[in-house]
Amino acid sequence: MRIGFHVSVGGGLLKALREAQLRRCQTIQVFSAAPSVWKRRTHDDAEDRAFVEGCAAAAISPIFIHAPYLLNLASGDMALWEQSIEVLRHELDAADRWRAEGVVVHLGSAGEDPVEAGMERVVQALNRAREGSCDKARIILENSAGQGNSVGHTLEQIGQIIEQAGADGLGVCIDTAHAFAAGYDLRTVQGLSAMLGQAEEVFGLPMLRLVHLNDSKSTLGSRVDRHEHIGRGQIGREGFRAVLSHPLLAEMPFIMETPKRVKHELEDDLTNLRRVRKLIPIAMRPPLPALPGE
Ligand SMILES: [Zn+2]
Ligand SMILES: [Zn+2]
Repeated sequence: MRIGFHVSVGGGLLKALREAQLRRCQTIQVFSAAPSVWKRRTHDDAEDRAFVEGCAAAAISPIFIHAPYLLNLASGDMALWEQSIEVLRHELDAADRWRAEGVVVHLGSAGEDPVEAGMERVVQALNRAREGSCDKARIILENSAGQGNSVGHTLEQIGQIIEQAGADGLGVCIDTAHAFAAGYDLRTVQGLSAMLGQAEEVFGLPMLRLVHLNDSKSTLGSRVDRHEHIGRGQIGREGFRAVLSHPLLAEMPFIMETPKRVKHELEDDLTNLRRVRKLIPIAMRPPLPALPGE
């Protein structure tokens, strides 16, 4: 089990590495550039190398890149769809430079079209993005909360997409807040086991590469994506105790994307990290780097 955070690269990669170390991250997720603009990063070889070496020295692994929010692989607007594929390829290139395990993507929205049409476009986009590439990084498909006409709010949809696109070079990320909002009841061990059983059935658990560990402000099945501090939302402490003690998730990287107040980012992250650590059964607790004041 490895625990980490999404950290900002706003001040550069080495600042991100320092932020990760302050949070005792054992794994991290970053944006390669601002998530709400199309312009992507211009790489600096020396900076990239220092980041890779720094992560290795701090035993931070695996590294994940989260693709920008603008991407819509399910879009019927062909200009937007093409641009999304191009940016995804760019992100895969960044992932290879940083020896990242993969690029996490939201599958997007089918807009006015039936969801099946959106799913088919996602399959084509994944094929295009992987075409002729020798990328080692995977494209990691994240489940959605199901807002709008978004693709991928059920594991069956993700399973179908993987089956049609071919599993090579793909992976899956389950976000606990999105799953809960989409109707998976993660408040109990039974609910969690049912979801994992379904994951095994529709794409196979080895495809699951990452869990986004977020509590949910919104209620079960609300299809609204609102993250909350661990244990303080609708999933609650018992739900996270179940997630963090489930044998099938014992080897999983967990990345938190929990809320943070401006100027109190570190404090809020460390509060969530302390809560998470307390919810891991003692026998399963990985060797964890000490926190300030411990
Ligand atoms: Zn997420
Ligand atoms: Zn979310």
